[in-house]
Amino acid sequence: MEKNYTIEHMEEEGTPYISSIVSEDIVYLDNCSQCGRIRFNENNHDLSLVIDGENKLPDFLLCGEFPLNIVSNRVIDVWDKYNLTGYDAFPIKFLYDTNMNEIISDVKYFDIRITNSVELDFHNMGVKIVNQCSTCNVVEYDKQTWEFGKALIIDSSYRNFDLFTIKYFQNTLSCSKNVLNITYKERLTNFSFKPFESSFDPFYDIDDSFLETFV
Ligand SMILES: [Zn+2]
Repeated sequence: MEKNYTIEHMEEEGTPYISSIVSEDIVYLDNCSQCGRIRFNENNHDLSLVIDGENKLPDFLLCGEFPLNIVSNRVIDVWDKYNLTGYDAFPIKFLYDTNMNEIISDVKYFDIRITNSVELDFHNMGVKIVNQCSTCNVVEYDKQTWEFGKALIIDSSYRNFDLFTIKYFQNTLSCSKNVLNITYKERLTNFSFKPFESSFDPFYDIDDSFLETFV
């Protein structure tokens, strides 16, 4: 298996980010009737977002409210140019500033949903599934996710994907080295990467030395 990466945001001060989602009720469904957890409406593709921050809008927008993956039309164009597949892209309806004035921008944004997914090798990671809700499918483990250690992929679930997510963690965004190279070559902004193995390590120090290769 080639080396893979988890995609994160740079989170530099002043970079615009999504501070809230307009009409939360179209994002969240009612609480699960069985376990009571709030459920995300995966079929909602009609998002309007509030953007906070003064600087130029980046290509990858951090969402402070829910881990949505929101990218600019530049990202979609670049992914098309390099024939990257494995995702659906849904246009964002409206962008507002924090005073609810509509932001008019040449940059359009898309909510991307990744359609490729890999399975974690829980056996070799020493993680046990202790419960799964039969209504909403949410899984409970014998430890917290930040205690998972090195993330390992079940070989048979991996098919040289460029973009992929993880079963049970469908809002994570992972990719091949190819995507990392393309991102820097095309100078897409606000993307950073950490090795896939470190996906669940909240203290992993993101190594931006990749960047120097492309400056
Ligand atoms: Zn449930």
